[in-house]
Amino acid sequence: MKTVRKLLPTLLLITACAAPEAPVAEAPAPAAATEQVNWAIAIHGGAGVISKSMDGVRKQAYVSGLEEALTVGRDMLAEGAEGLDVVEQVIKVLEDSPLFNAGKGAVFTNDGKNELDAAIMDGRDLNCGAVSGVSTVKNPISLARRVMTDSRHVFFVREGAERFADEMGVARVDPGYFFVQRRWDALQKVLENEEQDAAEKHGTVGCVVLDRAGNLAAGTSTGGMTNKRFGRVGDVPVIGAGTYAKNKTAAISCTGFGEQFIRHTVAHDVSALMEYRGMSVREAAEEVIHKKLDKGDGGLIAVGHNGEIALVFNSAGMFRGAADSSGRFDVAIWE
Ligand code: ASP
Repeated sequence: MKTVRKLLPTLLLITACAAPEAPVAEAPAPAAATEQVNWAIAIHGGAGVISKSMDGVRKQAYVSGLEEALTVGRDMLAEGAEGLDVVEQVIKVLEDSPLFNAGKGAVFTNDGKNELDAAIMDGRDLNCGAVSGVSTVKNPISLARRVMTDSRHVFFVREGAERFADEMGVARVDPGYFFVQRRWDALQKVLENEEQDAAEKHGTVGCVVLDRAGNLAAGTSTGGMTNKRFGRVGDVPVIGAGTYAKNKTAAISCTGFGEQFIRHTVAHDVSALMEYRGMSVREAAEEVIHKKLDKGDGGLIAVGHNGEIALVFNSAGMFRGAADSSGRFDVAIWE
């Protein structure tokens, strides 16, 4: 863990001297809620029953994957990049990794295909773009962004979305690009009704950002859930369910049992609790995740207009990371 705080410098010095070099995947200390920051970023790589007995090599791979994405975002934000650019680039890093259930690492449907969903939202003006059910788009988050910026619409699906990708020059790949043996084996296990680690059944990646200009942006990308039925769409591309951003309140990206996140319009609910009830981003996120959803449903990441970061989940774990202009930089998997 590389968390840096301005508080208690002496204690921190001692802690820093004693801290191991290797990143630790336990929960980071929460950021001081009152500390004002110029920019902030949070990412997730999915929530679920993530086994603590995961072998060390695999655990390190997840930690490294999260750190790589977070580093890209941190460096861009520190240089003054626009929030939407950061969200897209960070999610592309996660989509290109076979570890996370998005892009390259997407899970398989019941039909043995990969059908990907993504959404992006601009907190400045509520503009947004989403795609669902694409099976040949290498980086669905980039296509979602083009839907937002280059069409009159906000949501394209399946073949229509892929035609739009061609019009926009967004890279398409052969569906075989998405084959990952571990994901295929996970589908076979489910089809055979065998016990399977829930972390293999779903996942998702997300990024929320407050940039130096004070603007919020959110993005989420997923392969959905292993064994999903034909035409199933989860929460990720549904604006207000899995993804939401509004400069007045927060940027939010969710992960978990998508049907539940749609029923409870989770991302928008966090924003609404802040706007109408005056809650902080962390209070609002905890209210929704712990009081409205069922235990095990999943979690969310959010960054408030003041730079406060919330990383909240009701499942056994959530791959996540956070950084801000105070020097905070940490990733974690479990509580
Ligand atoms: N929310 C995603 C979906 O239901 C899956 C996940 O985040 O684990 O499609």
